[in-house]
Amino acid sequence: MIIAWFSCGVTSAVACKIALSLYKDVQLYYIETGSCHPDNARFLSDCEKWYGQPIHTIRSDKYTCVADVLRKGWINGPHGAACTLKPKKEVRYKLERELQHWDGQVWGFDLDPKEINRAIRFKQQYPDAKPLFPLIERQITKPDAMGMLWKAGIKQPVMYSMGYNNNNCIGCPKGGMGYWNKIRKDFPDVFNEVAQIERDVGATCLKDKDGRIFLDELPPWRGDPVEEIIPDCSLICQIEFQEIIDRQVERVLKGEISINDVA
Ligand code: SF4
Repeated sequence: MIIAWFSCGVTSAVACKIALSLYKDVQLYYIETGSCHPDNARFLSDCEKWYGQPIHTIRSDKYTCVADVLRKGWINGPHGAACTLKPKKEVRYKLERELQHWDGQVWGFDLDPKEINRAIRFKQQYPDAKPLFPLIERQITKPDAMGMLWKAGIKQPVMYSMGYNNNNCIGCPKGGMGYWNKIRKDFPDVFNEVAQIERDVGATCLKDKDGRIFLDELPPWRGDPVEEIIPDCSLICQIEFQEIIDRQVERVLKGEISINDVA
């Protein structure tokens, strides 16, 4: 049995479709964090029709949304965003304990050097997950994935059309100043909620050279949401990707080695 992780992002959606064409028994899973755009329900349902099979939705039994995690004071520490661990990674671990056996797990990392780097780090850190990266193997980029969805007649998730680089949760602590200024404009309620949580717990999403900066003191002109590329959440904390493995990324990019051959 193959587990394919659907995240409501364009790349994982295409990775799941490829997985279904490659393997016999593919089970599709989506982890609902409770903090995503409501359009995700439409996108998920469109993809289920495209796949011809349902996507299992699973969620944390402790946290209903990302704000629940932030309220515990876990915002953006030296070990990355705790909300990746709580409503996502722990849910994956639980599923793995329940299933006990699988032949591979399909992930939607694409052919961007940073994504290849993340895939390599993931393989190194979670060899037991038996990860598979069909997009990297087939040299598929995020724009390619968007094109494939367009061709299939599936409208991409609204967050992309609104100008976000990915379909992460709304109000992601991994975002930079430009991202948060965009959230303030597009989703003022979320911005105000997180700003209040920051004050309540005395911790911040953002930091600059002078130290931490609370959302309610963020000048509206700071940051550029287009320049700031936040990685797709993909159930993995950003700290896990900090080590750069340039040489291997370059070789995968050039097609000299397969992502499957990277040790
Ligand atoms: S997308 Fe952002 S807010 Fe959502 S779980 Fe991942 S790190 Fe947390």
